[in-house]
Amino acid sequence: MSKPFDIGLDRLTGKSRGSLAREFADSGLASRGTFFLETFGCQMNEHDSEKVAGVLLSRGYRQVESPDSASLILYNTCSIREKAAQKVFSRLGEYRMKQGEGRIIGVLGCVAQQEGEEIFERAPWVSLVCGSASYRKLPELLAQVEAGNRRVTGLDTDTDETFETEMTRRDNPWRAYLTIIEGCDKACSYCVVPYTRGPERSRASDSILKEVRQLAELGYSEVQLLGQTVNSYADPAPRKMRFSDLLLSVAEAPGIRRVRFTTSHPSDFTPDIVQAIDSEPRLCDHVHLPVQSGSTRVLRAMQRTYSREEYLEKIAMIRGAKRAISITTDIIAGFPGETEDDFAETLSLLEAAQYDSMFSFKYSPRPHTPSLAMNDPVPEEEKSRRLAILQEKQREIQSARNAKLVGNSFEILVNGKSRRENQWTGHTSCHRVINFTSQEQELLGTYVQVRVTGAGPNSLVGEQI
Ligand code: SAM
Ligand code: SF4
Repeated sequence: MSKPFDIGLDRLTGKSRGSLAREFADSGLASRGTFFLETFGCQMNEHDSEKVAGVLLSRGYRQVESPDSASLILYNTCSIREKAAQKVFSRLGEYRMKQGEGRIIGVLGCVAQQEGEEIFERAPWVSLVCGSASYRKLPELLAQVEAGNRRVTGLDTDTDETFETEMTRRDNPWRAYLTIIEGCDKACSYCVVPYTRGPERSRASDSILKEVRQLAELGYSEVQLLGQTVNSYADPAPRKMRFSDLLLSVAEAPGIRRVRFTTSHPSDFTPDIVQAIDSEPRLCDHVHLPVQSGSTRVLRAMQRTYSREEYLEKIAMIRGAKRAISITTDIIAGFPGETEDDFAETLSLLEAAQYDSMFSFKYSPRPHTPSLAMNDPVPEEEKSRRLAILQEKQREIQSARNAKLVGNSFEILVNGKSRRENQWTGHTSCHRVINFTSQEQELLGTYVQVRVTGAGPNSLVGEQI
C-alpha cells in the first residue's frame, strides 16, 4: 500500500496556493468530495495511482488517508498472482457497508480489466470498474459517476495512446516515476499482463523529455523510467530515438543526477544500453533483468524468447562494462512441468549470474494465460520447497557479495531518517540500501558519501564521510 508524502498542489503545478484556490472556486470544483486510493502491486501501479490522484485533485477532490473519511474509495488492483487478486475482494467485502453511507466505490487496474463487469455481480456496491488500459478515459468515467450513474465501466484494451495527465500527484519528493511504455507485446505463457494492460504503446520522446525537464525544475533529482518491457521502447515521434539515446537525453536534463529504468526484457537488452551506462555516470549502475528460469526447456514453455545460454551472454555483456553494474532478477519456481533437473539448472544459473537481489515467486495459475492448460504434476508443497531453496541460495550469494563491499564508499541519496538518533538511510546508484550514521541535522533529499562498515544479505551499514 502506498504511503503518500504530502506534496502540495502548488509544488506539482507550479502555481501559488492562492491562484489554485481561486481557479477551483471559479470552476465550481471546490465543493467536490474526498477520495481514498489504495494501491496493490507493482511500481507501474503505484505510478498509475499517482496519475489517477492527479486527475482527481485537478477535478477538485481532496485526498484523505482513511476510507472512513472519503466520499470516493478507489482500489488500484493487481492480478499478477492469485493472492494479490483475492485481496481486492476481501477489501471490497470490508467496505460493503460504506456504500450505504453514500460512498462511491471503484475498482481500477488489472483485476478490473480481468474480471470486468463480473465485479458488479460479485460486489454490487461497486460503481466504477476501470482497467489500466482505459485510464485515458478516467475523467469522462468519473463525470458519469458524479452524475449518479452507478455502473460505469472502462474496459477497452485497444487504446493506442498512453495515459498522460495534466498533473500527477507524486508520492516521493525526490524520485519521480515516468511511464514511457505501456502494455506488453510479449506473450509469456504464465503472464496476465498482456491481457490486463493491453498491447504495447510507447510515449513520444519529446513529451517524455519535456516532463523530465519540468520534474528537474520542481526539484526531483532522480527519475525512474517505467515499462513492463521498458527497453522495448519504440519512439512514435519523428526523431525515432533509440531507448539508449532516450536514456542519455534524460540524463542530460539540467538538475537530474540519477536515471533508473525498469523492467528490461533480456531479448531486447542490446549492447548500446551498456555503452550508454558506461558513458554517462548519471545513468544508474543497476539493471533489472528477469530470467524467470535457468532451464532452456522451461524458458521455451514459458515463451520467454531466449535460452539459458543467450541470457548468460547478456549477463556477460553487462559484466564486461567498464563500471560495475548491479544485476537483479525475477524467478518463478514450480512452473508447470518443471522437473528436479530444470530446478537444478535455475540454482546453477544463480551461481553463474551472481545477482545482487532477486524477486522470486511460486507459479500462480492465472486466467486467460496459455500455461493454465498445461499439465502440472508438481505438487504445491514441492513448489514451496523449491521456492525456499532458491531464496536461501540467493541469500548466501547476496551475503557474500555485500560482504565484499565493506570498506568501499558510495554516494547515496538520503531518503529516510530512523527514529534512532543520528541514523539515516538511502540508496546507492546500484540500488543498495545503506543505513548510516551522521551527525548532520538535516540530510533528507541530499546526496552524501558513505563508507560501508558492515553488510547483511539485504542491506549495508555505514558512516558518512
Ligand atoms: N515485465 C516484466 C518481465 O518481463 O519480467 C515483469 C512483469 S510482472 C509484473 C513481475 C514478475 O511477476 C514477473 O517477472 C514474474 O516473475 C512474476 N509473475 C508473472 N506472472 C506470474 C505467475 N503467473 N506466477 C508467478 N509469478 C508470476
Ligand atoms: Fe508479462 Fe512477459 Fe510481458 Fe513481462 S514480458 S509483462 S512477464 S508477458
